[in-house]
Amino acid sequence: MALIVQKYGGSSVADAESIKRVAKRIVDTRRAGHDVVVAVSAMGDTTDELLDLANEVAPIPAPRELDMLLSSGERISMALLAMAIHSMGFEARSFTGSQAGMITDSQHGAARIVDVTPIRLREALDEGAIVIVAGFQGFNRDTRDITTLGRGGSDTTAVALAAALSADVCEIYSDVDGIFTSDPRIIPRAQKLDHISSEEMLELAANGAKVLYIRAVEYARRHGVLIHARSTFSSAEGTYVLGEGMKNPREAEGADMEEPIVAGVATDFSQAKITVAGVPDVPGKAAEIFKIVAKSGANVDMIVQNVSGATTGRTDISFTVPKADATGALKALAAEQTEVGFSNLVHDDQIGKLSVVGAGMRTHSGVSAILFEALSAGGINIEMISTSEIRISVVLRDSDLAEAARTVHTAYGLDGEFDATVHAGTGR
Ligand code: ASP
Ligand code: MG
Repeated sequence: MALIVQKYGGSSVADAESIKRVAKRIVDTRRAGHDVVVAVSAMGDTTDELLDLANEVAPIPAPRELDMLLSSGERISMALLAMAIHSMGFEARSFTGSQAGMITDSQHGAARIVDVTPIRLREALDEGAIVIVAGFQGFNRDTRDITTLGRGGSDTTAVALAAALSADVCEIYSDVDGIFTSDPRIIPRAQKLDHISSEEMLELAANGAKVLYIRAVEYARRHGVLIHARSTFSSAEGTYVLGEGMKNPREAEGADMEEPIVAGVATDFSQAKITVAGVPDVPGKAAEIFKIVAKSGANVDMIVQNVSGATTGRTDISFTVPKADATGALKALAAEQTEVGFSNLVHDDQIGKLSVVGAGMRTHSGVSAILFEALSAGGINIEMISTSEIRISVVLRDSDLAEAARTVHTAYGLDGEFDATVHAGTGR
C-alpha cells in the first residue's frame, strides 16, 4: 500500500461529467489499497473568468482581494469532487490551502511555499478518508491572509504535499499523455518519453515546453519527489520525472539502459529581440545597457555582441526578452540614449527560439554539429546562439521555427514510427 498524491488540472474537472470521471479514477486508486491525497485546480477556465471579472470592476484590483477571489475557484472544484466521491460510497474530505497547512510568504499572486503542516490531512488519512486539497493557494502567518501561488500553481501544491507527506509518487494528470520529445502539435512524430531527468525537464520547461510548471519541478528536485505526468483520459502510463539518483520505477531490476543523448526539442514563440545599434565599444557600456533593461523589469534571456567596426569603434548588442517586456525595455533605453551614446534601437518580435536539451551533451561530442547541419540543410538562417551544459538554443525567424524543429527532431533520431495522438487539450 502506497501514499499517492494526484493532481488534476482545470481541463480534467471542467464540468460535472469530468468531475465524476476524475472521482472514479481517485476511487479506483483507493480501491487498489492506496492512500490518496488529491490537489485540484479550478474548473476549466474559471481562473481566467474570475480575472476578467476583477478587471471589469477595477482597473488594478487589490492583490489581497484578487487572491480572495481567485482562490474561490479551487474551493468549488474541491467540494464538488468530494461530493462526487461520496456518491460512489467513499469517504472524502476537502480542505482549503490554509486548512491543509500550506504556509506561504506574503506575496499575493506569486506566493512561495515556506512550510507545509498537513496535520488535518494526516488525521483524515488515518480515519480512512480520501483527502482533497484546493490547489494554487496558501496562507501567510504574518498577514493572516489567503495567498495564491501564481498561474499553474496547483502543480506546486501537489508536489509540496507529496514532499510533506513523504508520498511514494506525485501523479500530475492533464489532458496530454505525458512529456513528449517535442510539442506534438508542431511535430506530429514527437514521442512520449518513458522518463526524463528533472534537470532536462527544467531546461525544456524554461525554454517553452508547457506540460509541467518550472516551480513544481524545482520543488520536486529539491525535495526528492518522484513525478509521474500522465493523462486523465487514458489509463496508459505517462512519463516519470526523475530527480538525482532516482530510479525509474518501470525499469526492470538491474537493467542499465543507454540513455539517449538528446531528450527533447523545445520551441518558444514568446520572445522578442531588441538590438541596441552603434554602441561605443568601451568598457562599461554593456553594464549600463543591462542595468537600464533590468530596471524596466524585463527578464533578459539571450545576448550577443557583434565585433565592432574597425573604423567606427562601435558595436551592436542584441538580446531577447519576453514579448510582453519589450515595450518597457525599449522605452527605458530610449530615455537614456544620449547618456549611453548608442545610435538607434531595433525591435523585432518575429523571432522564435529552438532549443535542444539532453544530459548526454556533457559526455558526447558533435551534438551541436548535428543541429547546425540540419538547419543548414534546411536552408534556415540562425540569428543567435546560446548554450548551457545540457542545452543548445538558436534564435530564428518565427516563420521558420516549426519547420526547423521538425528537421532537427528528425536529425537527432527522435521521430516516432507513428504520429502522436493529440487531444484538443492545452496540457493543463
Ligand atoms: N487555477 C489556477 C490557474 O488556472 C491554478 C492551476 O490551474 O494550477 O492558474
Ligand atoms: Mg487552470
